[in-house]
Amino acid sequence: MTGSLTETGASMPRQGRELGQKIRREMGRAIAAFDQIQNDDRILVAVSGGKDSLCLLHFLSELKRRAPVRFDLIAVNVDQGQPGFPARTLPTLFREWGVQFHIETQDTYSIVLEKTPEGKAYCSLCSRLRRGILTSVARRLDCNKLALGHHREDLVHTFLLNALYSGKLGTMPPIYEVAEGGLSVIRPLCSVPESWLAEYARMAGWPIIPCNLCGSQAGLRRAKVRELLNTLEKNDPEIRNSLFAALGNVHRNELLDRSLWSQNVPRRGPGAEQDLV
Ligand code: SF4
Repeated sequence: MTGSLTETGASMPRQGRELGQKIRREMGRAIAAFDQIQNDDRILVAVSGGKDSLCLLHFLSELKRRAPVRFDLIAVNVDQGQPGFPARTLPTLFREWGVQFHIETQDTYSIVLEKTPEGKAYCSLCSRLRRGILTSVARRLDCNKLALGHHREDLVHTFLLNALYSGKLGTMPPIYEVAEGGLSVIRPLCSVPESWLAEYARMAGWPIIPCNLCGSQAGLRRAKVRELLNTLEKNDPEIRNSLFAALGNVHRNELLDRSLWSQNVPRRGPGAEQDLV
């Protein structure tokens, strides 16, 4: 036998198993580095049906089976009322995977269409509404963690969007507490390259549900940033890795925000500016 069985029963080729190993390792590193999962956690896994959230659920389910830490998972899909949304696909998959699940039906689709100004991205309002719903579902289902499937490119793109269009330095954090307390948001795939997830989902043969809403919008800022990186990457293949590394390597004294400086006026050795490439 050359392949192993995926949770859909399809045979996974050797490259897929190796890729799975890389994703598992990278996710494990992030979980450990940011203390994302502890004993007795009850984790709501947000599953839209895209490649990222399916990978998140798959690898967390696998971790639950083999990790010494005991935690519970519940997959939650918010059916946002998008026309043509295949409502049976995810419940069928969740049952096949033996995962506890809940489907929350709330029509945010009409609100997003109505409230988004012409030419603006649907994603910003859509994801805010969905996050609000997920937060209240998490509380209702007694979950203390909410796991989201954002990956390395999501963090890098958000960082660039913030810097280029909002004049701030910051991205999606790997873990944070929701203001009212008692609930933390975690991003276990935060350092996994998107291409790995896309390839793994393709090899596993999972039914991927595309978003028909934002897919219809062209020329948006996020798409421009993606294009910019693709162009830069042609000459500098390490550019994404470098940008991602920068997010975890902040030189507080070399920024213009005085509140970050370790002293009233930072001290540096002679010739230190030469390091500022
Ligand atoms: S990808 Fe689609 S479902 Fe997701 S936030 Fe954007 S518009 Fe909403």
